Amino acid sequence: SNSVSDDYSVQRTNDDATQCKYFAVQKGYWKDDFISRFANSSANVAEARRFPEISMGYWARTAAVEKYVREFLTEFDENVQVISLGCGFDTLFWRLASSGTKLAKYVEVDFSSVTSKKIRHILKPVGPGSIDLKKSFSSEAVVSHHADLHAGNYHLVGADLRQANELNQKLATCQLDHDLPTIFIAECVLVYMSADSSSSLLKQIVDNFRKPAFVNYEQFRTSDAFTKVMEQNLGERGIQLHGLEMCESAEKQEERFRTAGFKTVKVLDMNQVFNTFLDKEEVSRIANIEKLDEMELLEQLLAHYCIVFARF
Ligand code: SAM
Repeated sequence: SNSVSDDYSVQRTNDDATQCKYFAVQKGYWKDDFISRFANSSANVAEARRFPEISMGYWARTAAVEKYVREFLTEFDENVQVISLGCGFDTLFWRLASSGTKLAKYVEVDFSSVTSKKIRHILKPVGPGSIDLKKSFSSEAVVSHHADLHAGNYHLVGADLRQANELNQKLATCQLDHDLPTIFIAECVLVYMSADSSSSLLKQIVDNFRKPAFVNYEQFRTSDAFTKVMEQNLGERGIQLHGLEMCESAEKQEERFRTAGFKTVKVLDMNQVFNTFLDKEEVSRIANIEKLDEMELLEQLLAHYCIVFARF
């Protein structure tokens, strides 16, 4: 079909994100002691070769999401719940825990086929020199149906975000407090859902949580040329995606979060994130890792991605 991509290809986008992050971490863009536990370290290096622009984009996305989450945690004295939607193999929970950050609860949601793989990576034997992910849990991990894991204040559950009942049932197993400040993360996730599905998901969040915030990172400013390049790139890695539902503008992004009931909404494209939001010293450090001949390609790429921060 050309309006909805098949679920299998959507799940595979996580493998791609994980490999890109692993590659950028190895190049020194940022520090992540945990990503190697989830990445396919035997994938051959030539295959993993990436343009510096891609690694810089991944760095900015990871740094910006983490910054919004940390600021929210600080604002509410760490008495905050974090809910990562379409979490894939993301490692933010472990990065926060290892830096001594406390939080009330961290919940991750993805398709059960993805969460069950993540669970296997979390629980697999720890070889020499690699890190035991279970060490960050505040109590023994309990696994149910191969797809859900509960360990103290960390929860990983399998659900289709387009199915409100299924999602609510799974979230109910995580004993969330609907009155606590709760920050949702969707990093390259909403774009894979229809506009109707993502709108009802946002509305459901505002209806169910008294103090919700949302960090959304994704492609936007659709142009046929850009969509084609993106679909082609993924296609070369065996991922068939068609007709992604991109918001066409910053105004449209703002509108959908306001319509859902978020009071404050801020939209930055990733050029603005580079120039105004991220730490200037870090920006010049990463710009020097693989010296770019010209900035034009990077700027063009970054103009097609945005980060939205919305809150109650
Ligand atoms: N957020 C992670 C990151 O940035 O590394 C993973 C990003 S990956 C591009 C998109 C993820 O969203 C995949 O893991 C996919 O399975 C998940 N996803 C997309 N649509 C979903 C849905 N309807 N229900 C649950 N998960 C979904």
